[in-house]
Amino acid sequence: MNESQTGRILDGRAIAAEVRESLSLRTAALSASGRHASLDALIVGANQSGSVYASNQARMCAEVGIDYRLHELPGNATQADILSLIDRLNADDAVAAIMMHLPLPGGVDTELVQSRIDSSKDVEGVNPANIGNVLYGRRSLVPCTALATMTLIESTGIDLPGKLVVCIGASNIVGKPVAVLLMRAEATVISTNIHTPDIKAHCRAADVIISAVGKPGLVQADMVQPGAIVIDVGITRVMDPETGRKKTVGDVDFEAVQEVAGWLSPVPGGVGPVTVAMLLRNTVDAAERML
Ligand code: NAD
Repeated sequence: MNESQTGRILDGRAIAAEVRESLSLRTAALSASGRHASLDALIVGANQSGSVYASNQARMCAEVGIDYRLHELPGNATQADILSLIDRLNADDAVAAIMMHLPLPGGVDTELVQSRIDSSKDVEGVNPANIGNVLYGRRSLVPCTALATMTLIESTGIDLPGKLVVCIGASNIVGKPVAVLLMRAEATVISTNIHTPDIKAHCRAADVIISAVGKPGLVQADMVQPGAIVIDVGITRVMDPETGRKKTVGDVDFEAVQEVAGWLSPVPGGVGPVTVAMLLRNTVDAAERML
């Protein structure tokens, strides 16, 4: 890696703003052709944080010209109620994009519910059919955080073939799809998890490190080779001893790693805002494909 410059910040907010700008042009073009991009979101048993999240989502959609419709089911809704609403939205030609707010009430099989969303409308990329298409490199709706991670890596201008990437964390929604996207980009990928011995040794050899675990301080400066790209996907709420208030931190020891890494994504302000932008982009993609 180029060791000459260290500590460059991957500004997720700026990248997300650029994505939103291009989406506004695309939704305007859709409207001109008589079709509006729209997102139908389902929420079951809304609580305060769920409602705040949904209203933020509505605002983001409005900003880029996407119509937002929130479908609220009561907290005592059954799995059959949820599946029946999804079936109705799947069958509705005016619905191009569907997303499901989590968590679902106890007793509801989240994976089953997610797999019921029509794969062409599944803008979170949670239907197994979409994950399968990611593997085969076919056109599909890719999980938003995986897309955001790739977008941040690509924004550095790195040429991935021949580069070694270590993914820490291998969940279905982040670590695994990211690893597959990187394999598709012909990087050499090491996928690690909680059972992997000596993750530090793998990381020390890596051109790119992606941490998607949710463990503050997991990635330390002595794990990073000079000039490497470090993408911090982790989100953990911790108490700030200085202010006595809660704050959001990632997996990476930001200040120390900044001294060594070539590029580093902060938390907050890195992967998070780009993930939201990728949901909007998937929504516009889905609307365009319905034309
Ligand atoms: P998960 O709990 O489903 O998976 C965690 C993974 O990390 C597992 O593969 C586990 O084996 C591995 N792991 C746990 N401890 C480890 C350790 N000490 N060393 C190495 N690997 C370890 O989590 P997830 O849903 O993939 O989320 C991971 C983190 O990313 C969380 O903090 C979550 O909040 C965050 N996240 C952020 C965004 C975003 O938009 N920024 C989106 C999704 C998830």
